[in-house]
Amino acid sequence: MSTENLTNEENNKSLNFIEEIVVKDLAEGKNGGRIQTRFPPEPNGYLHIGHAKAICMDFGISRNYGGVCNLRFDDTNPSKEDVEYVDSIMEDIQWLGFNWKNVYYASDYFQQLWDFAVQLIQTGKAYIDEQSSETIAQQKGTPTRPGTHSPYRDRSIEENLALFNKMNSGEIPEGAMVLRAKIDMANPNMHFRDPVIYRVIHHPHHRTGAKWKAYPMYDFAHGQSDYFEGVTHSICTLEFVVHRPLYDLFVDELKELRPEDGDYRPRQYEFNRLNLTYTMMSKRKLLQLVQEGLVSGWDDPRMPTLTGLRRRGYTPESIRKFVDKIGYTKFEALIDVALLEHSIREDLNARAKRVSAVIDPVKLILTNYPEGQVEKLEAVNNPEDESMGTHEIAFTRELYIEREDFMEDAPKKFFRMTPGQEVRLKNAYIVKCTGVKKAGDGIIEEIYAQYDPHTKSGMPEANRKVKGTLHWVSVEHSLPAEVRLYDRLFNVENPAAEETDFRQLLNPEALTVKTGARVEKELANAKPLDHFQFQRIGYFNVDPDSSNGKLIFNRTVSLKDSKNK
Ligand code: ATP
Ligand code: MG
Repeated sequence: MSTENLTNEENNKSLNFIEEIVVKDLAEGKNGGRIQTRFPPEPNGYLHIGHAKAICMDFGISRNYGGVCNLRFDDTNPSKEDVEYVDSIMEDIQWLGFNWKNVYYASDYFQQLWDFAVQLIQTGKAYIDEQSSETIAQQKGTPTRPGTHSPYRDRSIEENLALFNKMNSGEIPEGAMVLRAKIDMANPNMHFRDPVIYRVIHHPHHRTGAKWKAYPMYDFAHGQSDYFEGVTHSICTLEFVVHRPLYDLFVDELKELRPEDGDYRPRQYEFNRLNLTYTMMSKRKLLQLVQEGLVSGWDDPRMPTLTGLRRRGYTPESIRKFVDKIGYTKFEALIDVALLEHSIREDLNARAKRVSAVIDPVKLILTNYPEGQVEKLEAVNNPEDESMGTHEIAFTRELYIEREDFMEDAPKKFFRMTPGQEVRLKNAYIVKCTGVKKAGDGIIEEIYAQYDPHTKSGMPEANRKVKGTLHWVSVEHSLPAEVRLYDRLFNVENPAAEETDFRQLLNPEALTVKTGARVEKELANAKPLDHFQFQRIGYFNVDPDSSNGKLIFNRTVSLKDSKNK
């Protein structure tokens, strides 16, 4: 992405702590003055807004400091991974506004990693353990109590090599054997207590098929992959701080084997992950919501996924700005989702075309307006941006207004429509209610009013003091539409911190479907994902489920933040 596309804020911000490190490394000429980062998703789910924070960091560093950022799929666990996820991840990164230099896969390094593991075995630094994972866990000890040695720790090198080959041949069932690094069962860093570095998985891999049965663990793949690629700054989230010594240890081992690499070494840096209120970021749990049909898919507009946010009406700019605002620190925090909502509201305020839509319509008949007459009125597309121009709206005798904008017996402060009180119809006339027609059950079927022909928008009399302004559409010149109103996915602020099964915490009102809405004809040509402001209601976009005869809109966000007043 070129810098011309960046907003002012993006260009003028002060440096975060990782940028400061990069600036210093450049000044010192570390790694030959090279900057190389990577974004390393595991293709086991769709990207979420938390990943956007990592993407903005990884790609932002390379963009701002003349470096390179590669996309690397951390595909070391075939049982959970799929090409569907690979494709979606690439689409979402590009949508966010970033581009990688190269696409790499950890699976491209399986042979190199295997050879490295063999070298560790040959130098007595790794062994095959046949104990169950439970037993291995029990023997780990605690940070203050040393662990106990596995009875298999001192196998011969020949035996270890033979068994390692068997682990990869398909003869060994999953879970029956692992390869462990022989480090230090008393080390205060638990990750040094003979970590498992290879395990057996029989599920075919989405790229390497049935070639491998022994797969490297994260700690044995990540740092090495960084090294093979020439990554200089391996940026990740704080939970990896405790893995860093192991990262460095394997890099040291590799460097011993490759003296020709000179001073080069990748270094890991960690920032705080994004946690947002009323949602959760665990891919595993998001997958569960999809698989159990608790949402309509990864792109359900209630989901915190990038594909969900895009369908909901979020723009890449609004997400980048949000990430920029929350910043990067070394402390975990829970960010109020209202900040994200604020960011899209601000963005759409600047760019969304203003139109009229009535979500829960009731008919308003102007009894003194000539039958059959159609007036073309002018509506400003965006008061924030004159260059967006105007469009025409049709005014007729029969209109729809919002049912909640009328009250028969209204309290004093009700400034909308009630018998005897004047209100303004946006862009049109001042009208006064004269009566209603009700069905047998008391439901109002029609509202009658008289319009004042001297109060057309723009006429001097239109300036008459009237407290309420209502939106409306013409009965004849409007289109039917479905409107999907969204609210927060969970009922509690931090569902990940609750003991209760997270599925019990879902907000049943996170989606309300209004099937009887009416929208102005201007929207007939709206295309999927187009943004609009429905005046007085909120920001909406066109859902891809829309078909020719049936427009469907998603509420991206309400006009005002009603929950945080
Ligand atoms: P899982 O949820 O399956 O444990 P993950 O969310 O860590 O996985 P990865 O695919 O491993 O997903 O993440 C790729 C990168 O995105 C990593 O560098 C990770 O640190 C970063 N990342 C993941 N979640 C967040 C988050 N909430 N905030 C910031 N960065 C994140
Ligand atoms: Mg991860």
